[in-house]
Amino acid sequence: VPDAVVVGAGQAGYQTAASLRSQGFSGGVVLIGDEPGTPYQRPPLSKTYLAAGDEDPEFRSAAYYAKNDITLINQRVVGIDREARAVRLADGESVAYGHLVLATGSRTRSLPVPGADLRGITTLRTRADADALRAGLAAAERVVVVGAGFIGFEIAAAASKFGHRVTVVEATDRAMARVVSARTAERFTAFQRENGNEVLFGSGVRAFHGTGGHVSAVELTDGTELPADLVVLGVGITPNTELAEEAGLEVADGVVVGDDLLTSDPDISAIGDCAAFPHARLGRRVRLESVQNATDHARCVADRLTGAPRPYRAVPWFWTEQFDARLQIAGVSDGHDTEVLLGDGESAFSVLLFRDRRLVGVESVNRPGDHMAARKLLAADSALEPAEAERPGFVLKDYVR
Ligand code: FAD
Repeated sequence: VPDAVVVGAGQAGYQTAASLRSQGFSGGVVLIGDEPGTPYQRPPLSKTYLAAGDEDPEFRSAAYYAKNDITLINQRVVGIDREARAVRLADGESVAYGHLVLATGSRTRSLPVPGADLRGITTLRTRADADALRAGLAAAERVVVVGAGFIGFEIAAAASKFGHRVTVVEATDRAMARVVSARTAERFTAFQRENGNEVLFGSGVRAFHGTGGHVSAVELTDGTELPADLVVLGVGITPNTELAEEAGLEVADGVVVGDDLLTSDPDISAIGDCAAFPHARLGRRVRLESVQNATDHARCVADRLTGAPRPYRAVPWFWTEQFDARLQIAGVSDGHDTEVLLGDGESAFSVLLFRDRRLVGVESVNRPGDHMAARKLLAADSALEPAEAERPGFVLKDYVR
């Protein structure tokens, strides 16, 4: 069996190596990543690990890789030679592959405004970023978070544990706009405000100002200047597709793959944050940024490489934790026309999202039972209709057969 080589040792890369071994793959498994140390999980970096830093986010200790004959190489891959079927490392060495898996993830975006390179303006993607940010939060006096997405709101929640009253500025008119309903977004904005943070909508950043090379204020598009000695940008990510592009693979906001997760080269797969794959229910290509997506993609590729190919059809799900609220989302909504609320709408509730009377997504706040039921209903393409869900006493999990 030819060797499987995985580029990128994040969530998707780690899971590919682990699944190949747990499913009895008999060839060599080489996992190449450009970060130091062993692969680790990112979700705690903006939650518990940022606030306390006491739990190691690594998936497995170094002993696991040795015991399972997974070769972990801490280096950057700088090129793919498709003819020779080999990747080139930064130190000039080459590693040959039978099958190559691109799991290069994504990187944080910056803001193209004056002053963006001042010290004290940071982003959060890696463990090193989280360690630096934790130290920054302990020392800072005025913290501004740019972007009211998941990451921005999670960082603002963690920062309040350091005693900060954070100002979150958001260019659009609502929080988490890409991924949650207006109702859920409003509730999470209220959680920020109830906990002492300020959230300003319609507030783009025009410039950063500094003294002595360090940020001192954020200037908003309306001219307001917010004093700040620590600014965290949560303004989205860019998929790492350069390697694929330089190798001549098709790229369109992500490395383009089919429902088998193969690129335009049958010897190369692409998975996780960097992959644009066809979504069966939406009927178009999507790129998702979640642990579920990275993990299920990895398992699908491992199944193929161990002789059990199947089309990728997993139901997307996601979670975020902010203050005492745990939001779990099942499905991806491409827009919905009907909402049904279950629960109090305050601290424990679910919002069922329908389009053309078909269930497309469920957002659950502190209702994990609803979330698990929702994943099953979506996987089964449930016939649940809004009218049924609106009946008094309706319980989502009782509807799962
Ligand atoms: P990554 O985990 O980014 O791994 C890619 C790796 O490849 C990186 O280590 C990168 O350095 C490396 N790499 C890139 N190019 C090369 C190269 N040329 N050579 C070698 N190595 C390379 N998702 C959730 O579902 N729930 C959450 O609560 C949640 N919270 C998050 C909090 C934070 C702070 C962040 C940053 C992300 C969070 N996510 C969450 C998203 C989730 O972590 C990502 O979707 C997931 O990590 C994607 O996995 P991946 O393997 O595709 O990419």
